Amino acid sequence: NEFAAITLKDIDQLANSSFPLCMRHLFYKLREDHHLKHRGRMQLGLFLKGVGLKLDDALAFWRTEFSQKVGNDRFDKEYAYSIRHNYGKEGKRTDYTPYSCQKIISSTASVGDHHGCPYRHFSEESLRAALAQTGVGGRALDDVIDKVKHHHYQLACTMTFEAIHSTPCDTGINHPNQYFTESQKLLAP
Ligand code: SF4
Repeated sequence: NEFAAITLKDIDQLANSSFPLCMRHLFYKLREDHHLKHRGRMQLGLFLKGVGLKLDDALAFWRTEFSQKVGNDRFDKEYAYSIRHNYGKEGKRTDYTPYSCQKIISSTASVGDHHGCPYRHFSEESLRAALAQTGVGGRALDDVIDKVKHHHYQLACTMTFEAIHSTPCDTGINHPNQYFTESQKLLAP
């Protein structure tokens, strides 16, 4: 990781400026519902690990939200383990890798799930609303929707990146953590 570790005090600002749509969605849903299902926790949790959130901060981050819904005891019993697990501190001690776009796009998501890729899994209406929240509108928004209609999800994400940062992204987007890195290169060089 070529960037300094991200800390809890920066996380809201970074989510707003540099998270791709898939992670923004999970992040804001977690803040709103104080809960995410297992696959959403995996997708967001491994991404956060990949952008340099340390285990202690990750535990504090998830606890802040989940304790409001299930209480501290249940958080410790049912959820803390899997967060440590993601960091390779439990079980087989595998160091789990953040998911690529390909993996996220090909995952199945049903009603009530928040994991997955918004370009692939959202309705057009929800996608338009989510994009509008990032400030993408007008012609750029229509161009993104057009790519989605042709099933070019990563291209749609790349075009969103370009619209948000007002800069071409020649490499294209193939990984949520790469999206974050490219964004931070431009915003916090
Ligand atoms: Fe996330 Fe990749 Fe989908 Fe972009 S294309 S929203 S980075 S999964």
